[in-house]
Amino acid sequence: MTPGSDYQRLRSHLAFLRMTAAAEALPGLLDQADTHTGGLGHQAFLEQLLAVEVTAVEERRKASLARFASLPSPFTLADFDFAAQPRLDRNLIAELATLRFVDDATNILLIGPPGVGKTMIAVGLGHAAVAAGMRVYYTTAADLVARCHRAALEGRWATTMRFYAGPRLLIVDEVGYLPLPAEGASALFQVVSQRYLKGSIVMTTNLGIASWGKVFGEDQMVAAALLDRLLHRSVVVNIDGQSYRMRSHRARAEAARKAVAAGA
Ligand code: ADP
Ligand code: MG
Repeated sequence: MTPGSDYQRLRSHLAFLRMTAAAEALPGLLDQADTHTGGLGHQAFLEQLLAVEVTAVEERRKASLARFASLPSPFTLADFDFAAQPRLDRNLIAELATLRFVDDATNILLIGPPGVGKTMIAVGLGHAAVAAGMRVYYTTAADLVARCHRAALEGRWATTMRFYAGPRLLIVDEVGYLPLPAEGASALFQVVSQRYLKGSIVMTTNLGIASWGKVFGEDQMVAAALLDRLLHRSVVVNIDGQSYRMRSHRARAEAARKAVAAGA
């Protein structure tokens, strides 16, 4: 066996195992192992070769989890300005950011008027979970309902239900902005039911729990049954401060007024 044919066989093993990063790093690592006096030993060589591949696979996996998650913005919890929301319990959000709630399938319900950062916190938790290697999926309630509606028409109901059951963390944004048709309410109910005690949901809503009946049209029973499962093991976070959007709007308006006053 010549060293040349050993090398070729090693390359083809790596190719067969689809270890492309290791294959690329191979010549360099072999040089280090061969040529340097006191170069890499067997163990160190093998460890470094595998480490290159492990890193590459991990990065691919993270990138694929991030794509799948469909998070609508890049903001993380570190970008959240707590000073703008003084009544929001910073320690509670920090505790949620540890993702311990995912381990026991606790749900998070973020309640508050528009612009207070509900989506930002939900998405921030999503990014944290992706970074921790979890499968996350973000959807708005409207998209979930539309997708379930199409699935029902096309005979893919069971597959679609499995899809929403799959992720470790499901984010359902903007429940309550639009009233749900009876069929939509029942789709959301089924998604919540089948994840019950199995997988966490982070849900955002502009409605206080007392007015959930309204989103579900006339069907108070579905609303009650859904809330029952959602809240059984849950953390409810009320964010009732000022809208952040309006805040920057106010700041710009204020600056414009000052500029006009200074000019006058
Ligand atoms: P909501 O979902 O409650 O309507 P969003 O999370 O969409 O509100 O927030 C509205 C906008 O304001 C977003 O661009 C968001 O990034 C920003 N924002 C809201 N609250 C904060 C905050 N406390 N710190 C930084 N940016 C914020
Ligand atoms: Mg929102």
